Amino acid sequence: MNSEEKFKNIISHCKEYGFIFPSSEIYDGLAAVYDYGQNGVELKNNLRTYWWKSMVQFHQNIVGIDASIFMQPRVWKASGHVDGFNDPMIDNKDSKKRYRADVLIEEFIEKINSKIDKEVEKARSRFGEKFDFQTFVNTNEKTLGYKREIARIEEILKNSLEKSDFSSLKNLIDELGIVCPISGSKNWTEVRQYNLMYSTQMSATDGETELYLRPETAQGIFVNFLNVQKTGRMKIPFGIAQTGKAFRNEIVARQFIMRMKEFEQMEMQFFVKPGTELQWYEYWKKLRLKWHLSIGTNSNNLKYHDHLKLAHYANAAVDIEYNFPFGFKEVEGIHSRTDFDLSRHQEFSGKKIQYFDNETNSNYTPYVIETSIGLDRLFLMQLCENLVDEQLENGETRTVFKVNPILAPYKIAILPLVKKDGLPEFAEKIYNELKFDYNCFYEEKDTIGKRYRRQDAIGTPFCITIDYDSLKDNTVTLRNRDTMVQDRINVNEINKFLFEEINWKKLLIKL
Ligand code: ATP
Repeated sequence: MNSEEKFKNIISHCKEYGFIFPSSEIYDGLAAVYDYGQNGVELKNNLRTYWWKSMVQFHQNIVGIDASIFMQPRVWKASGHVDGFNDPMIDNKDSKKRYRADVLIEEFIEKINSKIDKEVEKARSRFGEKFDFQTFVNTNEKTLGYKREIARIEEILKNSLEKSDFSSLKNLIDELGIVCPISGSKNWTEVRQYNLMYSTQMSATDGETELYLRPETAQGIFVNFLNVQKTGRMKIPFGIAQTGKAFRNEIVARQFIMRMKEFEQMEMQFFVKPGTELQWYEYWKKLRLKWHLSIGTNSNNLKYHDHLKLAHYANAAVDIEYNFPFGFKEVEGIHSRTDFDLSRHQEFSGKKIQYFDNETNSNYTPYVIETSIGLDRLFLMQLCENLVDEQLENGETRTVFKVNPILAPYKIAILPLVKKDGLPEFAEKIYNELKFDYNCFYEEKDTIGKRYRRQDAIGTPFCITIDYDSLKDNTVTLRNRDTMVQDRINVNEINKFLFEEINWKKLLIKL
């Protein structure tokens, strides 16, 4: 299966098994807007819970808030979003499709990178055990040529973005011969800027005010800096975390839930003493990668990508990228935002936003390290990483969602073998006991084989089957999703078993 087919499979699996539906589908949907279904919402909640626990519960010096989506519009003037939250866009005149100019160029660079990978693979099989990766990439002429070309393109891209020089971006697209993936033509318009914020009206007695739907959750944290610091008696360094919806008028909304107009962010702003920010930046950069590894993501599928163009307020920025079927793409950003946001809010609000340092007896504006992750992209990552088709010994295939058990929508499925002779009653008793601690699935219909397959497809790590022996000796069959091994277990042991297999500590301890 090629990667395009794999991605199509994931999308249809999401629909078929109640993970994700197109929004307002009976009215033919709404582009780039999606709804989470009965299984999707559970997985999404679990991902959010793990993030919250690892950030807030797990750090003495991090607290959470839940700020509103609407904010006083001057917030967005101060943050720079009104004047500067733009994307450089380019249209293909033949397909009438619009693209982000910088993304087209980055995708071109990715293609050169895969040529390097191919050379490496060819050499690896040619040299066998003698193959040394570093020596090869540093001496092979072809590979070095590719690397020089990437460096040259990145340099032009970085300069053009920094200077907002759109004609140079356009020249680069022309020079590289980049074609539209739909029409295959090079018939491009000029590059133009588009603001990404949605606006709406709020009525008041003195007229209407134009409001924006927040394009990021971060500003809700900055404007509450003093409230939290003072009421929580927080000492620097400390962090404020929040999760919530953000809205962006993404013109080029593609790749399913990867780029949506309404999505959810999980952000943490960590306030530090000026001069220590790069040390904290390194700390968060490492910890966030570890977090992704802790849920079982293969390290080969994750990489850092340093920002070519630093935002005007940042002095360091890196993305954590995941190897989606359509290539390595950003899932999370870690940014050193200096004192830009707090200083701007001080300037625009006229309120003093500073921290009094008891040790040095002085006031200063804290610097900020931000970790910002898209919950929807994290969700998609789980499917790309863990949805597998397995060939069974009897020639059949089964689709298994091998998501980490603690993140799975249901932890256990309780299945009476037949719908009679007291088996359902016995099973329901187990369900009613386990439901206090775990999200359990109960099902009586269909053959046991079919029921197991359905649980595999939604990622339920364990199934228990109640049969006639259960009534005699109080035991049930416990089936493991990944190994398909079936064991007999006493009903009184199930809770203990689940507690050992499924608890947050198993993940948190890895951080
Ligand atoms: P991109 O370059 O892909 O547009 P970004 O750099 O604009 O992303 P940030 O502003 O750093 O993204 O937002 C933080 C995180 O929010 C991203 O890492 C991503 O996971 C998520 N995110 C941003 N835009 C979207 C979107 N339109 N749909 C889904 N998730 C998004």
